[in-house]
Formats: sequence, structure tokens, C-alpha cells
Amino acid sequence: MSETQKKRGELIVLSGPSGVGKSTVIAELLSSRPDIHFSVSFTTRAPRVGEQDGVNYNFVSREEFERMIRDGELLEYAEYVGNYYGTSLKVIQEQLDRGVDVLLDIEVQGAAHVKEKCPEAVLIFLIPPSIEELSRRLRGRNTDDEEAIARRLVQAGEECRECPRYDYLVVNDTVVDAARQIQAILEAERCRTPKRLHLVEGFASAEP
Ligand code: 5GP
Repeated sequence: MSETQKKRGELIVLSGPSGVGKSTVIAELLSSRPDIHFSVSFTTRAPRVGEQDGVNYNFVSREEFERMIRDGELLEYAEYVGNYYGTSLKVIQEQLDRGVDVLLDIEVQGAAHVKEKCPEAVLIFLIPPSIEELSRRLRGRNTDDEEAIARRLVQAGEECRECPRYDYLVVNDTVVDAARQIQAILEAERCRTPKRLHLVEGFASAEP
């Protein structure tokens, strides 16, 4: 098997507190790695202005989401700020089986479930350069009032406490650097010895 013939895709999980800039970093990453499949989650929350069904999320009712849980259709799910969010098992499996790398943008509970079910998944946590900078970015979005911002900052602190469970920590100082570091992580993961032993299969029997 040649180096370009991959066995299975990588499952990549990206988490980080609200306002850290995950979506922008993901967009930057996908612009240089369009071969990565971005997993569109299912959610019961209402679409925000500009969000499209099937693009940003698959927007479903609570009843439909609970049916998906009962029927085992989700790789993971979590309840976050009163709404369900979950990842389709079938879509992820199909892509990984085809050798396609899959990227999940999910919160910390979901990421922990993924690591339990798929220990080989690569977990990356994105942090802001400082809590002051996060606060500045949240205010800059102009989407929340002061009370909501304060709540998000407390939540950000709680989420960041989960970061030791992750394999990698990336600081989103500039979007380009953060995306470049994630690409470097994925490249290093691809070079892990267990994933490359097929490259030396014929070497042991080689004649001098
Ligand atoms: P938002 O409502 O701001 O789009 O997302 C809220 C949080 O839900 C974010 O931290 C996002 O990463 C997370 N999230 C989005 N999709 C999923 C999912 O499928 N599963 C889990 N566990 N979290 C998700």
C-alpha cells in the first residue's frame, strides 16, 4: 500500500469556549484542506439570522432529536444551554470508512463521549490568548448584553478546565497561525508509527 493510500480517515474534534473564533479558524483550515469533511450537527436550537438548514446545522424538533437518541443514530450528543446538539453516527462512519478526515466542532461533554467511543480521535482545544481578549471579542460581536457576556465568560472558564482531556491545545492569537498549527497537528498524526507500519512491510524480507 502506498503512502497516499490511506486506510481510514482521521476523526478530528475541535472544542473551545464561545467567542474564541472556532468557526473562523475552521473556515481558514477548510480553505487549505478542502478534503476534510466538516460534520454538520443536528440541533434543537432555533436558527440564527443567516444560518441555513443543512449547512450550519440540521435543525430538528426536540421530538425528532429524542427519536434519534432512542434509535441510536447519534455518535454523541449533549444538552448545552437548554438545547440538544448531536453528531450523526452514519455520516461520520461513511466518511471515515472512505478514508476521508472528518472534523467535529463540538462542546466538551460531547468531545469526552467521542474519546470514549473512538480513542483514536484527535482532540484539539482552542483557547483565546487571554480571558481579557475573549471578553473583548465577545463584546465586539455585539450579539449579547453585559449579563449574557458575563455568563459566557464564566462558562468559558468552566470549559477551559476540561482542556487537560484534550490531546492538543491551540491558542487562537491569529486565525492564520491557529489554522496552520492545526494543520501541523494533523500532519504529525498522519505520521504516527502505528498508522504507517504498512510502509515497512516489505523491508524485513528484503535481500541484501
Ligand atoms: P452554537 O449554538 O453557538 O452554534 O453552539 C453551541 C455549542 O455547541 C458550541 O460549543 C458547539 O461546539 C457545540 N456543538 C455544536 N454541534 C455539536 C454537536 O453535534 N455535539 C455537541 N456535543 N456539541 C455541539
